[in-house]
Amino acid sequence: MSETTTTATPETTRPSAPRPGGPRPDRAPGGPRKKRPFQRRKVCRFCAEKEMTIDYKDPRTLRYYITERGKIVPRRISGNCSKHQRDITEAIKRARNLALLPLAAGHALP
Ligand SMILES: [Zn+2]
Repeated sequence: MSETTTTATPETTRPSAPRPGGPRPDRAPGGPRKKRPFQRRKVCRFCAEKEMTIDYKDPRTLRYYITERGKIVPRRISGNCSKHQRDITEAIKRARNLALLPLAAGHALP
């Protein structure tokens, strides 16, 4: 049984990039940027519904404004107005202190 030495030929044609960050073929300078489809304008839920209140003792409402990992969702995602985003942030931080909301996701994650 004679084994022939296989030449090291890369199966994927991937050009070795000298830069540590790697090349970014998607971002062509001066090229046409991808227009994202028009998204429905988000409206602040607390402005829209006056009876909705921001309460740090109400983690059900606040949970909507944190990510799975426990981070606070930014305003450009949540669509809150700046006033209510400040209130939300304040309430989430208070709720974290009371252990109603997580400070971070569990450490058992992969
Ligand atoms: Zn608002």
